[in-house]
Amino acid sequence: MEQFTIKTNSHAALIPITHQIRSIVKKSQVSNGVCIIFCPHTTAGLTINENADPDVAHDLLYMLDELIPWQDQGYRHGEGNSAAHLKASLMGSSVNVIIDRGELQLGTWQGIYLAEFDGPRTRKVFVKIVA
Ligand code: ZN
Repeated sequence: MEQFTIKTNSHAALIPITHQIRSIVKKSQVSNGVCIIFCPHTTAGLTINENADPDVAHDLLYMLDELIPWQDQGYRHGEGNSAAHLKASLMGSSVNVIIDRGELQLGTWQGIYLAEFDGPRTRKVFVKIVA
């Protein structure tokens, strides 16, 4: 397994990590297999979405905020960051991408993102390549 860290510098952000994942795939010299990317945190997640127009990342964060307010009388979690936990679960903890002929098989407009919901923090990303 490989891993790297990302220092996030705002409360919520989608941070592109496709470049780091591509480097790990290249280094592995695996030409056919699966790349498993895992985020070992409860208030950050991973997602794959548009890599060209940064407004898409903005809109995703905006609407998650609309749907999942930071304060809600019904929340019980004493740490006060329930919204971050909920958003992380919605995004998910892992994404898998097929490797074919040594290349990640992402769509033209797709990028892989670390989704921070309770930053700024230092986040780990685990990457396992299965040949
Ligand atoms: Zn918490």
